[in-house]
Formats: sequence, C-alpha cells, structure tokens
Amino acid sequence: MSTGLLGKRSCQPSFGVNPKDKPFEMVDLQNCESRKKMNRTCNFCGNKNFKENQVQYIYRHNGQFLVVNSVPCEECEFCGERYFRAEVLKKIEKEFNAIYSSGKKVKREVKVPVEEFLEI
Ligand SMILES: [Zn+2]
Repeated sequence: MSTGLLGKRSCQPSFGVNPKDKPFEMVDLQNCESRKKMNRTCNFCGNKNFKENQVQYIYRHNGQFLVVNSVPCEECEFCGERYFRAEVLKKIEKEFNAIYSSGKKVKREVKVPVEEFLEI
C-alpha cells in the first residue's frame, strides 16, 4: 500500500470500483468553482498535470449515501487527487435529493457493512 502508490494511480481503470479509493472524496465545493479553467495547480502537491478520468463518486449527506459510477473528473497525475466540476457535483446533489426527498427509484442498491472500530 505505501510503496509505488503514486505510480500505480495513473494506471487505474477508467471507471468502476477502485479498491484503493478513499471511502469519501474530500471535495471542497468552493474550490471546484474556481477550478474550471485550465492551467491550474493541484492543491495538494502543486503538480500542474491533470488527466481526464471517470471514477466512482460517493456522495454523503446527513448519514445517507449515494454512489454514482463513471463520474467525470480531472485527476492529478502526481498524487491522484480528484477534481470535479461544480456542475457535476450539483447534478449528483440533485439526484441525491430526488432519491431521498422525492422518492425517485434507483437503478440498483448495495448493502454496506458498518462496524464500530472498537469492536473490530
Ligand atoms: Zn496532486
């Protein structure tokens, strides 16, 4: 896990589940707004090279989750940090609300195991 991570990041499949995914994407919405333009720099490592990718996005709000596959993003080629466009995130948020507030039917549901750290 600790070695070779940076190199492997760039060889990820273009979509689907990546076992190395962090459980939640730490995305700053405000940051995304200002990152629409090209020639930006990665917030985390300062790298300027990004590649287009499609990834699984997990939206979490008030203890409820929505998993969306094949979400377009730009991925830092060095550290693998992902940047999503504001309109992409808004679309996911809208879908989340449609499902949880308006009772929209979803294509598929998954069961997720939950554990308390002290009990494992
Ligand atoms: Zn980076």
